[in-house]
Amino acid sequence: MADPQYILPNDIGVASLDCREAFGLLSPTERLYAHHLSRAAWYGGLVVLLQTSPEAPHIYALLSRLFRAQDPEQLKECALKEGLTEEEYQEKLERLVLGSQAAQEHPEEIGELWQVCGDLMFSLEPQQRHLGLGNEGTTTYFSENCTLEDAKLAQNFLDSQSLSAYNTRLFKGTDTDGKLCFEVRLASILREEAAPDSDMTPKLKNYEFEGCRFQVSRGDYSPLLRKVVEHLEKAKAFAANSFQEQMLGQYVESFTQGSIDAHKKGSRYWIQDKGPIVESYIGFIESYRDPFGSRGEFEGFVAVVNKSMSAKFERLVESAEQLLKELPWPPAFEKDKFLTPDFTSLDVLTFAGSGIPAGINIPNYDDVRQKDGFKNVSLGNVLAVAYATQREKLTFLEEEDKDLYIRWKGPSFEVQVGLHELLGHGSGKLFVQDDKGAFNFDQNSVINPETGEQISSWYRSGETWDSKFSTIASSYEECRAESVGLYLCLHPQVLEIFGLGGPEAEDVVYVNWLNMVRAGLLGLEFYTPETASWRQAHMQARFVILRVLLEAGEGLVTVVPTTGSDGRPDARVRLDRHKIRSVGKPALEQFLRRLQVLKSTGDVAAGRALYQGYSAVTDAAPENFLALRETVLLRKEARKLIVQPNTCLEGSQVQLLEYEASAAGLIRSFSERFPEDGPMLEEVLIGLAKADARFWRGPKETPPLKA
Ligand code: ZN
Repeated sequence: MADPQYILPNDIGVASLDCREAFGLLSPTERLYAHHLSRAAWYGGLVVLLQTSPEAPHIYALLSRLFRAQDPEQLKECALKEGLTEEEYQEKLERLVLGSQAAQEHPEEIGELWQVCGDLMFSLEPQQRHLGLGNEGTTTYFSENCTLEDAKLAQNFLDSQSLSAYNTRLFKGTDTDGKLCFEVRLASILREEAAPDSDMTPKLKNYEFEGCRFQVSRGDYSPLLRKVVEHLEKAKAFAANSFQEQMLGQYVESFTQGSIDAHKKGSRYWIQDKGPIVESYIGFIESYRDPFGSRGEFEGFVAVVNKSMSAKFERLVESAEQLLKELPWPPAFEKDKFLTPDFTSLDVLTFAGSGIPAGINIPNYDDVRQKDGFKNVSLGNVLAVAYATQREKLTFLEEEDKDLYIRWKGPSFEVQVGLHELLGHGSGKLFVQDDKGAFNFDQNSVINPETGEQISSWYRSGETWDSKFSTIASSYEECRAESVGLYLCLHPQVLEIFGLGGPEAEDVVYVNWLNMVRAGLLGLEFYTPETASWRQAHMQARFVILRVLLEAGEGLVTVVPTTGSDGRPDARVRLDRHKIRSVGKPALEQFLRRLQVLKSTGDVAAGRALYQGYSAVTDAAPENFLALRETVLLRKEARKLIVQPNTCLEGSQVQLLEYEASAAGLIRSFSERFPEDGPMLEEVLIGLAKADARFWRGPKETPPLKA
């Protein structure tokens, strides 16, 4: 029996993202702005297919073709007529695809697409079932022959040239003269041969670095980015202010030239655009899915203000400066001046990318964050989808905890998200020495509270949190933010801000901590024992916190295996609510201080040792997490699929197109997403995938860099 974590059930839950109310309150101009930004996001979102696996673009194109010719109802009718049973309709994809209208109309194209992706999409080969470098998994951020050593070398090269990895991919191959060479390819509309002068052109050349050749080129995803830019230009005409206009101008420059500096400039305007009615962000943003942790996945979102939630978060912002003082590190480890971030709750209209988060804190550029600040966005309608857990699907809790959990999960999550995003990611300082040798801290007076000695390590010019802590950076930072949330929710003032007091407030604290402990256990789903690696930053972070609270002892937390009513393995997590303040708080305090000190001082060695120590999943007594992981997988509820609306232009009016929360609704939402493009868009996508096909699933020797 294959590992159930790689198998989605046929009856998987589907929820729809409700944005009707918020969208209804937009003015006609705001709707037009939101519409064109949504178009840009969806086109750019196709880039994610090219950043995932060699077969991903083919799967998309195949399904697109299939459902363009027949909607799900027609396809099903046709399949049942051909003798497939209802059950087979769910399971016999090959017969369904090859017997479809699309295959009858275009037998060669459909046959070819099926040939490329038919087996791979179901493959449970260890290397093909999750993301990873080289033999560890699948990735298209790197050619298949790249190793972790190659990734490190490339990072050093990029650092040496002050180039960002965010919008790049790395291909190892032979140059035209037969020499081993790494191609660092930037995402842009322009290719090097058609380049008017810009700040990027001098960088597009060959370099010798540590005995290797590096070729910096550009033009990755060019035709898709052209579509993105087209709609960003259109959106500009409906911008609410000059910040939005200039921001879009810089994004256009960034996607045209392949310039992360332009994207940073755009992000600075974006930060200055405080509290917009229509919020958005677009570009190569999160590095979670790069196995090395420094390349950004394309992401584009458009969201609309939700007024009631925003009011609570605004009050949290007003208290931020005071609450930061409650955090367990000396004032010198806090930013010189807390830059009040724009922290709003929004409802998502469009989120193109590999998943939809419940909250985001961007930009990710440390230099921009330190100087210009950042924004926090809590995505209210995404949270609403996440809560919708039925009582019978609540695993690993005591019966008496379940009602409390269901009652207070929403409010406690609201508190945790607010604290995590604002005071978690927003807190703490990095000690930096700039390129002129100047320090942003007083070397003589700042004392490391862990050692009692002066600061002996820091970030040099060009080094960032992500580049230094690479593979653990995302998860470590999520862990720090989650810990801040857990720690500060104990503060009465915080609960007051969220309108909570008395026994209710205590229940919210309890449910918040209980939820974290349970999430730590559930997180084991995202651990792969074969490679001893974690696949999801937030879940690893929660497991680490669970370990810290278990280590605190005194019966604060217990995790025990049990047998379920079905006779199969089960487990129970318990949290002693009377020990949260007496045992939990001091343990978390010490841990949080350590996380911050190692982050501030850029102490990678100690940071790694600490974080990887707590991240280790073993069969050691008393918990035996390896065995508990099996139970978690056995009992897991498949993650719900989310249906998103579309917007369309009717004359000069923008309409919202909504779809039912079902598989058919999900399919329709995609079928109607690119109405003006038809099959051309899939051809473009497949063309891009084919151009690089030699780098994957091929010989382990080095292919030529140029096709
Ligand atoms: Zn976070």
